[in-house]
Amino acid sequence: MRTFALAGNPNCGKTTLFNALTGSSAHVGNWPGVTVDKREGVYKGAGERVAVVDLPGIYSLSPYTPEEVVSRNYILEEKPDAIINIVDATNLERNLYLTTQILECDVPVIIALNMMDEVEKSGDKIDVKAIEKTLGVPVVEISALRNTGIKELMSRALSMPPQRKGTTVLKGVLDKQLETAYAFYEGEGVSSPLFHAVKLLENDEIEVQRNGASAVLEKTGADEDLEAVIADERYKYISGSLSGAKTKAHREALTKSDKIDRVLTHRVWAIPIFIVILFFIFHLTFSENLFYLNGFSENQAWMPSLVELGLATEDGPNNFGVEILAIFYDGTVYSPGVILTNFLNLFLDHISDGVISLMERGGAAEWATGLVGDGILGGIFAVLGFLPQILVLFMFFSILEDSGYMARIAFVLDRVFRRFGLSGRAFMPMIMGFGCSVPAAVNTRTLADEKERTATIRVIPFFSCGAKLPILTAVAGGIVMTFGVGNADVITFSMYLLGICTAIVCVLLMRNTTLKGETPPFIMELPAYHAPGFKNLMLHLWDKTKHFVKKAFTIIFASTVIIWLFSHLSWNWHYLPDEQMQQSMLASLGMFLQPLFTPLGFGAQLGQFGWVFAVAALTGLVAKENVIATFTTLAICISAYAGEGTEEGIEELAGLIKVITADAGLSQREFIAALIAFIAFNMMTVPCFAACATAKAELEKGKFKWTLLFWLAVSFTVGAMVYTVGAFIWPLAIWFAVAAVVATFIVLRNTGKFDITKIFGRRKK
Ligand code: GDP
Ligand code: MG
Repeated sequence: MRTFALAGNPNCGKTTLFNALTGSSAHVGNWPGVTVDKREGVYKGAGERVAVVDLPGIYSLSPYTPEEVVSRNYILEEKPDAIINIVDATNLERNLYLTTQILECDVPVIIALNMMDEVEKSGDKIDVKAIEKTLGVPVVEISALRNTGIKELMSRALSMPPQRKGTTVLKGVLDKQLETAYAFYEGEGVSSPLFHAVKLLENDEIEVQRNGASAVLEKTGADEDLEAVIADERYKYISGSLSGAKTKAHREALTKSDKIDRVLTHRVWAIPIFIVILFFIFHLTFSENLFYLNGFSENQAWMPSLVELGLATEDGPNNFGVEILAIFYDGTVYSPGVILTNFLNLFLDHISDGVISLMERGGAAEWATGLVGDGILGGIFAVLGFLPQILVLFMFFSILEDSGYMARIAFVLDRVFRRFGLSGRAFMPMIMGFGCSVPAAVNTRTLADEKERTATIRVIPFFSCGAKLPILTAVAGGIVMTFGVGNADVITFSMYLLGICTAIVCVLLMRNTTLKGETPPFIMELPAYHAPGFKNLMLHLWDKTKHFVKKAFTIIFASTVIIWLFSHLSWNWHYLPDEQMQQSMLASLGMFLQPLFTPLGFGAQLGQFGWVFAVAALTGLVAKENVIATFTTLAICISAYAGEGTEEGIEELAGLIKVITADAGLSQREFIAALIAFIAFNMMTVPCFAACATAKAELEKGKFKWTLLFWLAVSFTVGAMVYTVGAFIWPLAIWFAVAAVVATFIVLRNTGKFDITKIFGRRKK
């Protein structure tokens, strides 16, 4: 099987083409470097099967960034049968710079002129034949997004001769020096001697270290500054020989993209606009009061509830029609995210009711109905119920990403990030963290500086991932439902912001203390805005759904069974009914851990049932979805015998909250603070096993144990801060004092007036 490699600049459409060729559902985004991992697939559209490799996006074949090294080594060492060099036709000159370097390798090359749909739309004309003639390799016009020209591209690629000698655009410029260097490499029997020879003249780091190479370099007299000359020659060649190839349509000075950018990347307004956009996304996903139609607070509310309308009683809707209506409206208009959730939950509720009544009628034992109804179905459905909101949120994020907006935000944030010791590049793994910490941590490989990378990996979990979303939504929903205060979307959005702020503060601390270092420059090309492809969006969402459902029926299924069992088994392995759960193994374990969380408000204060919180936090280490699955499973049992009745969904948690408030005699304010501290703690504490394993693999040796400690310290501190401030206000002063001490310490340390090693009388190195 022949192997073709896709090479090109970041954002030229490699991944889109890769997906079109291989039908793979690999995620497509605007981030330079999303493809830093090698991705392979098979093209089956021709007579023979062809392996296709998606290389990371690069601007050149110099060894400056990890992507460049990966691509260069692949092309030179793995020797693909051909390189499909993807060129963004809307950015011809810049893209061809890389082409001139690829052409120097001894490998068949074909140019895929991508984004032709954009070029056609703008009215520009490109003379493909002229480019072909100048560069001496086939050029095919395609649109990876609209799936045009791809068959022709592959058939021409497959009919290329299997060998090709490298060619250079430096002919007639550095002939003498090149000849000498070329002779050296040819003598060594290296393949692609021309490529290596040019790189040596460029004073390339890798080439210079080759045995005998520096002597050759001296002989050519090119040991200085030819790099700039060569780069210049490449551009001159492109703009000279290829100048006739592109005819620009007559147009006004500013393109549409430029006009949009004037607003969206505005020096002052860019970040506020971004925050407003984020808020709208959260509002549309989580709000139970769409566009605040029903007023901002309880006393402004004017819409009648279904009960007030006489369509439902306290026990529920009068008939099926009202049940359907209740998906969209009950006293307030719901947001699309909530509507979808209600819809799915209605469906899931009917299933679980059906199963339980079937079991009861079939005469199943009490423990069996409990295990299936409360344990398995309760836990899994509690988690599955959040799938719609997760999908809606990710749909919005994907749209922002694919439209080109996120790339702008990285660019805008670079100015801000720089002050905290990070480059804008760190923004993309962070935003990916909203999806899942695992790929996000892997994506930090695009960061050139190891210390910047460590800091980024550490704060990624603070960008609350999809699995933590149920914690936010359920607890926020529980608060709103039990106490009738606040809006679920505002609480959720604030928690996300709290995570981001914590990340910023932590980075600032680390970059000023243990992880000091220079922040490398951030260069990025901004792609033109465009409408996101529908197919890619669906593929992405489908991927998420598959992953989530699979997790629900494996890890979460197993965990809920275990949780249910251990909450219904005593230390001598006897079955305990719900009323005796307090004597179970799980309860004693929870009670043992409970005091740990007292400073955070959800410890000893919560009384005899408070252990549920400790257990939920613990099971979150396996998978964060477990936090809510555990809660639900245990809450159903507790509420049932404490006389709150079994309710569904968020109401289970609300039931538990009611039981606890009554039992422990907590004030509303204290309990709300504790619940928010609980969200904050779970958001920032040690992430799930999968994320830990990835972080361990991606971090430098020995850094992982400190990272664990860091997560624990941050989650306890932030949790305690949220609780004490929320419950009492006056500790605000104490926390300010702590912050002031830390800040002073850093300033002193940075000015060299204070050296902690002196205090301990020991100096490192
Ligand atoms: P990569 O960084 O090279 O892997 O580029 P991607 O495949 O992630 O594409 C970057 C952006 O360009 C995405 O938003 C794509 O939807 C978009 N894109 C890719 N190919 C085309 C195309 O042929 N036409 C248009 N209009 N957009 C495209
Ligand atoms: Mg890509």
